[in-house]
Amino acid sequence: MFKYETHLHTSPASRCAHATVEESLAFYKSLGYDGVFITNHFYEGEDKKGKSYEEMMNSHFADYENGLEFGKTIGIKVFFGAEITYNGTDFLVYGLDKEWFFDHPEIEEMKIRDKLSFMAESGALIIQAHPFREASYIDHIRLFPRNIHGVEIINASRSDEENNMAKHYAEQYSLLKFAGSDNHTASKRTKLAGVCCAEPVCDVEDFIEKVKNHNADIFTLTNEI
Ligand SMILES: [Zn+2]
Ligand SMILES: [Zn+2]
Repeated sequence: MFKYETHLHTSPASRCAHATVEESLAFYKSLGYDGVFITNHFYEGEDKKGKSYEEMMNSHFADYENGLEFGKTIGIKVFFGAEITYNGTDFLVYGLDKEWFFDHPEIEEMKIRDKLSFMAESGALIIQAHPFREASYIDHIRLFPRNIHGVEIINASRSDEENNMAKHYAEQYSLLKFAGSDNHTASKRTKLAGVCCAEPVCDVEDFIEKVKNHNADIFTLTNEI
């Protein structure tokens, strides 16, 4: 099986991350992963102050671009993803590239449901991340069953209770079952989760096709490094 991390944050692109893209890639390479998706938080709060859309995009993509180069040197595939937020309700977006984001600054002004639909129409795979997460900065749990393709039924950073509710949500609405680590600390993370495939993923479009056609499974793993 070929293993993929689907939910990874790196510093400095994600302010809450504590490991660089190089540290993160070296860690996943040491665990035998075939590839990782870098899903940094997408321009929110403090990050937006005084910056143009283009500046935000350039800093957002910098970690991915550095990772792409570093991944080639150590032999691990690097794919682009993004985690967008709506008041703490988060969505993982795969399949849109830098050109697409530069071409569509209007997404900043869109309502969240319109934005999700627009991204999906543009070919993106949309996964609601940790839908039952509870935290001080989240006013209430919000579900978007008609605007997503799938659900993180295992987010390795969340409790069994939250993940079990996410599984129930996915099953009741026939949504794709997805998993990721939400790793912010590279090798310091003990619990990991991700997606694995019998055949290697060659690019993001191939990954989306495998996930949508159920040619991908989810897995969990304990890091013993
Ligand atoms: Zn974060
Ligand atoms: Zn995340």
